Amino acid sequence: SDVPVSNFLRTIIEKDLSANKFQNKRWAGKPGPLSMQQDAPKDLARIRTRFPPEPNGFLHIGHAKSICLNFGLARDYAGQCHLRFDDTNPEKEEQAYVDSIIDTVKWLGFDWNYGDSEHLYYASDYFQYFYEFALALIESGDAYVDEQTQEEIRENRGTLTTPGVDSPWRNRPVEESLKLFIEMRDGKHPNGSLCLRAKVDMASPNINMRDPVIYRIRHEAHHRTGSDWPIYPMYTYAHPLEDALEMITHSICTLEFEDQRPFYDWVIDKLIALGHLPKHRPHQYEFARLNLNHVVTSKRKLKKLVDENLVSGWDDPRMPTIMGLRRRGYTPESIRLFCERIGVSKADSRIDYNILEQALRDDLDPKVDRSVAVLDPLKLIITNYPEGQSELCRAPKHPHNPEQGTREFLFSRELWIEREDFMEDPPKKYFRLFPGNLVRLKYGYIVKCTGFKKDENGQILEVYAEYLPDTKSGTPGANSVKVKGNITWISIEHAQAVEVKLYDRLFTVENPDAGDQDFLELLNPNSVKTVQAFIEPGTEITPGARWQFERLGYFYVDVDPQDTSKMVINRSTTLRDNWV
Ligand code: ATP
Ligand code: MG
Ligand code: MG
Repeated sequence: SDVPVSNFLRTIIEKDLSANKFQNKRWAGKPGPLSMQQDAPKDLARIRTRFPPEPNGFLHIGHAKSICLNFGLARDYAGQCHLRFDDTNPEKEEQAYVDSIIDTVKWLGFDWNYGDSEHLYYASDYFQYFYEFALALIESGDAYVDEQTQEEIRENRGTLTTPGVDSPWRNRPVEESLKLFIEMRDGKHPNGSLCLRAKVDMASPNINMRDPVIYRIRHEAHHRTGSDWPIYPMYTYAHPLEDALEMITHSICTLEFEDQRPFYDWVIDKLIALGHLPKHRPHQYEFARLNLNHVVTSKRKLKKLVDENLVSGWDDPRMPTIMGLRRRGYTPESIRLFCERIGVSKADSRIDYNILEQALRDDLDPKVDRSVAVLDPLKLIITNYPEGQSELCRAPKHPHNPEQGTREFLFSRELWIEREDFMEDPPKKYFRLFPGNLVRLKYGYIVKCTGFKKDENGQILEVYAEYLPDTKSGTPGANSVKVKGNITWISIEHAQAVEVKLYDRLFTVENPDAGDQDFLELLNPNSVKTVQAFIEPGTEITPGARWQFERLGYFYVDVDPQDTSKMVINRSTTLRDNWV
């Protein structure tokens, strides 16, 4: 594809590579995970990134940004990217999420299998390392077992303007902490009764450095390690160690973690000094997360929509999850194009949903076949066309790509047209059907509107027109009469009846996270509408099919995962940004 646009991360990586920063670096500490020892010698001249999801939900469009960034950098600099499950928190994690994340990253077009090495990791595989490293930190006087309650620890942490207060257990003898920590590990203490804290600096201006908790007691089964561990490491302790054990070079995370970087470095530096980690160490770099208008991108909030049945599931086509977008009709290419276009920076911003839709249009426009649908049908009767007669019309499958071939469909006396293509009393510049006006029935004849019928409520029931026999598209007389309007139609006798789902924004406001209002109250009650529509005969409805229905947008045949016999046609996006 195109030459990638540079960004601050590329600049850093290029500088590191030209300084040979990763050349000849080898695993130098105590034995690391087996896979690391195997590929450390040959791989370290390259960069190594990782995408580290917690398996507590489905991936959303924000994660796509991180996936494209991490896997994309590894690809562009001949490095490797790890898919690592950050599964250190037993409460919310499940195997089903692991499976879905694997499928999603693959579907997006990325792979952690580099031929000689497959880089799929689970942080839970490192529990023994984390534990042994914690013992080492206790022995060196860099960690202690605290007996304060969670609330006391929080209160004594201090504020931005006041220093923290030392725990009464901060200076307990090393042997005592060791003994208690081993008892914690052996399951001898109840949840919350003890915790392990790093001994850093209770007066640090950075509150994250005021003796953060690094282990807590949780008598809770883990989806992979079962009941092996009654203690679990905290994210801020585990994450730098995961990166170091996997010999990550550039650990890229979102800006919220900037204040955590000093502790990230502290953990790694301590363990390098103690000889437990290789001297070659990862560095953390932060970039701005994706904030997309009219949706929420937080797993917690998306889960709430699912749990409260406000959507049909994580993969509801209205959801900004990657699986939701996929069912809506998004392609992997369009999501990657979107991520490329939004770029990477350190400045927080919001991205308009239309940027995402435009990426889909730009991906599909040159590829997909055209067809016709009528979503809001109104009957048009060609009163001078014989009953029972029909004739073939032809149209290109793609207007700019004749190799895609032609499509054929029948014209007859009774046609479906869009209700909005007729007006009894039109405003200026309305060029479609109204009494006395001439329009082109696209790929068919020019017709002149002669009348209409309506019911007592003013609802239009039928429209009447006469066709001009010499004006059929593709014949010498096609241009003998000039008209401004060009409308789509389908022969009623030949039309295929289908159900189509039309979508609107999921939330009524650009930023549902702003303000004090509960985000659920900002849901758009009309975010999905099902219509009985008609589509061009010959349009094959097979799972995964996509078309542009002329004038209406891009559509996709989605299979309901709950009932695979059910196919639904989703509108993926309109042709233009219709949102006002
Ligand atoms: P959420 O807030 O939705 O729960 P998370 O950051 O807790 O997201 P993780 O599973 O930990 O979810 O995320 C894995 C990776 O994806 C992290 O490196 C994180 O920085 C990145 N990520 C998550 N959300 C976004 C986003 N909106 N934009 C860019 N990257 C994101
Ligand atoms: Mg996270
Ligand atoms: Mg989270």
